[in-house]
Amino acid sequence: MLGMITAMTRRCDSCSSRDVREFKGEFAVHFAGIEGLSKAIVWVFPEVNVCLTCGAAQFRVPDRELRVLRTGVPVEGAAVLMENIEKQYSGSSVAQGEATRSRPSEN
Ligand SMILES: [Zn+2]
Repeated sequence: MLGMITAMTRRCDSCSSRDVREFKGEFAVHFAGIEGLSKAIVWVFPEVNVCLTCGAAQFRVPDRELRVLRTGVPVEGAAVLMENIEKQYSGSSVAQGEATRSRPSEN
């Protein structure tokens, strides 16, 4: 029954208001900076605690998605968008043999 009590007395970390309510959220987490453009965008669908007094919001990133944020590498089962990375692998290698064809030297 102690667990019930702690859940009921949740306070806002910013303003100590008790007017904190739980919502369902959807977040696309991007890596910051230019290099972030080539990294995964991680989707998380957490329960979000929003302070209805000051607007501070708090949620926890699930382990699986957290692993993607730690490493920048997608994990199986995680909702990840890899739009920019895919482009690196879509380049075709047409006529690669042409350039390296050996020729007998002409004297
Ligand atoms: Zn607050």
